[in-house]
Amino acid sequence: MILVLKKDANDADKSRIRSELFAKGCVVREMNGTGQTVIAAIGRGDLDIAELAALPGVAEVVPITSKFKLVGRQWHPQDSEVTVGPITIGGQRIALIAGPCAIESMDQALTTAREVKRYGGVLFRGGAFKPRTSPYSFQGMEEEGLKILAQVRAETGMPVVTEITSVSQADLMLRYVDMVQVGARNMQNFELLKCVGRMGKPVLLKRGLASTIEEWLMSAEYILAEGNDQVVLCERGIRTFEPYTRNTLDLSAIPVLKNLTHLPVVVDPSHATGIREKVAPMARAAIAAGADGLMVEVHHDPDKALSDGPQSLYPEQFGQLARDIYVIAPVVGKQLDFDYLEKSSRYQQQPRGEQVMAAYLGEPGSFSHIACTQYLGGEVATAPQSSFRAIFDAVQNAEARYGIIPLENSLTGSIHENYDLLLAYDLKIVGELYLRIIHHLMAAPGTGLEDVRRVWSAEPGIQQCRQFLDRYPQWELATVPATSSAVRRLRDGQKGDAAIGSREAAVLNDMHIIAEGIETDPRNFTRFVIVGKTPLADRPKTKSSIVFSTANQPGALFEVMHIFADHHINLVKLESRPIHGKPWQYMFYADIQADVQAPELGAMRATILERTEYFKVLGTY
Ligand code: PEP
Ligand code: MN
Repeated sequence: MILVLKKDANDADKSRIRSELFAKGCVVREMNGTGQTVIAAIGRGDLDIAELAALPGVAEVVPITSKFKLVGRQWHPQDSEVTVGPITIGGQRIALIAGPCAIESMDQALTTAREVKRYGGVLFRGGAFKPRTSPYSFQGMEEEGLKILAQVRAETGMPVVTEITSVSQADLMLRYVDMVQVGARNMQNFELLKCVGRMGKPVLLKRGLASTIEEWLMSAEYILAEGNDQVVLCERGIRTFEPYTRNTLDLSAIPVLKNLTHLPVVVDPSHATGIREKVAPMARAAIAAGADGLMVEVHHDPDKALSDGPQSLYPEQFGQLARDIYVIAPVVGKQLDFDYLEKSSRYQQQPRGEQVMAAYLGEPGSFSHIACTQYLGGEVATAPQSSFRAIFDAVQNAEARYGIIPLENSLTGSIHENYDLLLAYDLKIVGELYLRIIHHLMAAPGTGLEDVRRVWSAEPGIQQCRQFLDRYPQWELATVPATSSAVRRLRDGQKGDAAIGSREAAVLNDMHIIAEGIETDPRNFTRFVIVGKTPLADRPKTKSSIVFSTANQPGALFEVMHIFADHHINLVKLESRPIHGKPWQYMFYADIQADVQAPELGAMRATILERTEYFKVLGTY
């Protein structure tokens, strides 16, 4: 049963309900979603609905009809997130889990781990108890291997995951690792499932060699029923008649699972294919199909690996795969963040009670808000602002540590106001992010396309949907600063009002999408930059944004461009903006692919200073 609580139900009501259900022999779980608390009572199908509905604080009682009581979406419609140390699996950022099949030595593990981290891995894997087909094959280093994993975490900051093959290993796992893996061969070892359910550590549950999705979800149900909801599902290929690959990767399991369960889903293309060259294509496909992450076998010297060498990637191959995923992820609304581990570790080092705050335009559901959580992670608190200037002020006055601002859209070009603000304020660009912008037309339930009279959105939203809007010349168009505010207006708008905005804004405001994907060009990306006073991560910088002005004389701009050409530095953007108070004179904003602050470019900076009247570095990142 699901007990939906009244909005005004208090703690006393909740604990009475919980103990009542517990006394009846139910497994009781509570979830606090968007402004609503629900309590699930599982294990007894014969409860008296009327009796439960009469309990103080209960608004409604709904039977859970699905067999997936706890893992299903019926009582938990939102996606869940699983936290492993500083890493979240299932959020808006792709989690790359990588490492060797087995831990073989301290040197092998540490060398591979450093490479994995360097290329974007956030969680290190390595087996210490190996379930091998032959008893004569390498069985793993057992406790010694776990100690090495703990050492890897200490040295790299990466949390570690390893396979548990027996209930008797539980204490060791609790002592040494951050996440336990239940392997394919143990997916239906129910005593082991109950054991990891009670251990309370996050669990990576692999799909059995020949298990259906239903059997797999029922195994996850065992873990949740013990009180552990930190479960990630891992598709790793199933046995079919096809011998060219070790297994057959069931990519269709990803959308099927996404529909059935709220649990995050990752894909292991290594055991699925068993062949190194096949790993990257399947990994790319998995992300395109909606996986929340990957688990990839990587070995610093796979030719000498004691197990699964032929399917293990060389570190550089893993690096190339990560770069591909970085490009693919935004298309499906996610990000691969190369600084993920560093950022999250820094947040965790915040003094108690202090939280990193980021200022953005609009309100939850705005594209700026989405960019903010994708770039900074869900752990960062967000401060909504009503103008771009307010964002700069908030960061300048230290009310927020970072601000997120859109600079340029692939369809509609630069957002000039932000270029001017970057010049006026002394804040640095510390990072950038490309967000795919998908616009939907939405309205209150019951409003159809034919009822629309007026459409609210932000100016860029209107421009980016021009082609669609031109089909309805009778519609009145009204603008507000952010698309999210346009959507919220619908809540107390008039009949006939609609808005253009993100799917997230529609969900948050209980609006219905009446026309999907209405942006003129699906390749609609906005480049956001993050402004702040301190850098977010220490990695080498590859890009700089600068602004300069030159004397008003022939060849002056050409001379500055020449400096970059002489240094073989690629210019990726050049834009001019009028100088306020000096009609017909311009500031040039340029993005270059180099760290203009690097010591070895000191001579180049000196030359730029000589040939410009004004020069400022807006940021290196
Ligand atoms: C592993 O990940 O090391 C492993 C043995 O995988 P699976 O259980 O999927 O075969
Ligand atoms: Mn393996």
